[in-house]
Amino acid sequence: TSFTAPPLDPLLVENVTLSRFIKPTPVQKYSVPIVAGGRDLMACAQTGSGKTGGFLFPVLSESYMNGPAEVPASTGAFSSHKVYPTALVMAPTRELVSQIFDEAKKFSYRSWVRPAVVYGGADIGSQIRNLDKGCDLLVATPGRLKDLLERGRVSLANIKYLVLDEADRMLDMGFEPQIRHIVQECDMPDVENRQTLMFSATFPRDIQLLARDFLREYIFLSV
Ligand code: AMP
Repeated sequence: TSFTAPPLDPLLVENVTLSRFIKPTPVQKYSVPIVAGGRDLMACAQTGSGKTGGFLFPVLSESYMNGPAEVPASTGAFSSHKVYPTALVMAPTRELVSQIFDEAKKFSYRSWVRPAVVYGGADIGSQIRNLDKGCDLLVATPGRLKDLLERGRVSLANIKYLVLDEADRMLDMGFEPQIRHIVQECDMPDVENRQTLMFSATFPRDIQLLARDFLREYIFLSV
């Protein structure tokens, strides 16, 4: 097997090939048809399994095909900038979101999708200036994202794809309240708009409960 269009968008296949990925890993192979089929996904996958591609490939490919979402007209010359990403990836640490962002940049090359990254413990001003250049796919740690939502810099009203990566580690780090708050914002105005993918190395009871609350009739994948 190789990376092929369809089901993947031809431009995504080109970008993946430019990255010298020849053959999909199991999590990549299975996640693409699940996401393209409109289903939610709970994947148990370790670091090194290729799980980043497992969510970026189908989410970017579907995003390419859907095209940009409509953004509300500006409310006036003096309103502050706000971005309306259509895809949101949350992960626990600066290192992880930076790695995901680097892959997202490679795989969105020459497409309309503009990735951006935000994380805590770094200057928020420069992150805001980067967001203002445009953001369709946002990779974020939960605490920093909540801060940006409260400052009115990010709206989650257009989110079509929500990814929780390393969900077990995010819970271990105490991010559950922020995550629940953020997922609630993704549900406004319309919960039906959202497709959700959760990735976790383990599947203990608290992750099962999160999956029950966030996913709809999900497919369980263990690789
Ligand atoms: P991940 O589990 O997503 O952190 O990926 C682990 C490493 O494998 C990263 O360095 C990826 O760039 C690489 N990788 C992921 N998928 C593939 C693939 N299909 N072919 C070759 N390398 C890959």
